[in-house]
Amino acid sequence: MAVEHRSEYVIYTEHGELRAELAGRLRHGDEHPAVGDWVAVALRPSEGRATIHAVLPRRSAFTRKVAWAETKPQVVAANVDVVFVVCGLDANYNVRRIERYLTLAWESGAQPVVLLTKADLCDDVDPRVYEVESIAFGVPVHAVSAPHGDGLETVRSYVPAGRTAALLGSSGVGKSTLVNALVGEELLATQGLRDDGRGRHTTSHRQLVPLPEGGLVLDTPGMRELQLWDADEGMQAAFADVDALAAQCRFADCAHREEPGCAVRAALAGGTLDVERFESWGKLQRELERLARKQDARARSESRKERARFARSMRKTSY
Ligand code: GDP
Ligand code: ZN
Repeated sequence: MAVEHRSEYVIYTEHGELRAELAGRLRHGDEHPAVGDWVAVALRPSEGRATIHAVLPRRSAFTRKVAWAETKPQVVAANVDVVFVVCGLDANYNVRRIERYLTLAWESGAQPVVLLTKADLCDDVDPRVYEVESIAFGVPVHAVSAPHGDGLETVRSYVPAGRTAALLGSSGVGKSTLVNALVGEELLATQGLRDDGRGRHTTSHRQLVPLPEGGLVLDTPGMRELQLWDADEGMQAAFADVDALAAQCRFADCAHREEPGCAVRAALAGGTLDVERFESWGKLQRELERLARKQDARARSESRKERARFARSMRKTSY
């Protein structure tokens, strides 16, 4: 499935690119296809159309909150194999932000790889690569420079034929530039065309970009707006060291403040845990708790609705 446009979808099939709509059962259900999904379709090649009947199980998924009031996660990208966490080696270089994007990456189920762009603007590339490696726990870290072409072959090696990559990173870190360099042509020109309403075709090519070697790069607005969502598992991987420390505290509900036997405080005092890293761990935990409370509230209101529905159905069947 290549792109969603309101209720219309564009799919890649053995008959080429087709427009498709959802079968009724899917339209009214919860589980709509997302970009990157494999779907079961009934083809109408003569019309150049198809009907989507089912969404196949996902290998990985990026999700986000739909809106502030509504906390049901929406899948913004499915079946991403490798996710490039992108950060510039210029003034916007920020290890904490890389940590947070890594959390999202782990949570998705895709393999994370950190790309430090704009290496040509940085005098001490190697120390920064080491610094990121020290917080990324086994995740490969590569420096790249788009204008010089440095590191591009390494990046390509992660997206051979049959694999799909996505990019995560703040605006301006060089994601579009990197995609252009991988594709070998200026897609940014097509991005400009999109604004004057020149059809969906351009958009569809922008959302799932085929590379010359046969891999795909997924580049959707949704991916670019990703927010932290339910990142418990990802948290554990990204902050494995802090979690291990917290597990050694004497009290299970230790808040790591004044409690006796606090292993986290001891590590901070002893210099084996970085204060900033501890603070970003705490901040992320507070956000996760807030999200969990919202989810609980939603679950409660759903079960209220469920009870009301049940009461109504009882009324209908009791004579
Ligand atoms: P995006 O918002 O992440 O897609 O970022 P862009 O790809 O639009 O890049 C933002 C700016 O950074 C542009 O002016 C690019 O020319 C510049 N840029 C991107 N990659 C590099 C690089 O490797 N080296 C240098 N010097 N500039 C870069
Ligand atoms: Zn503690």
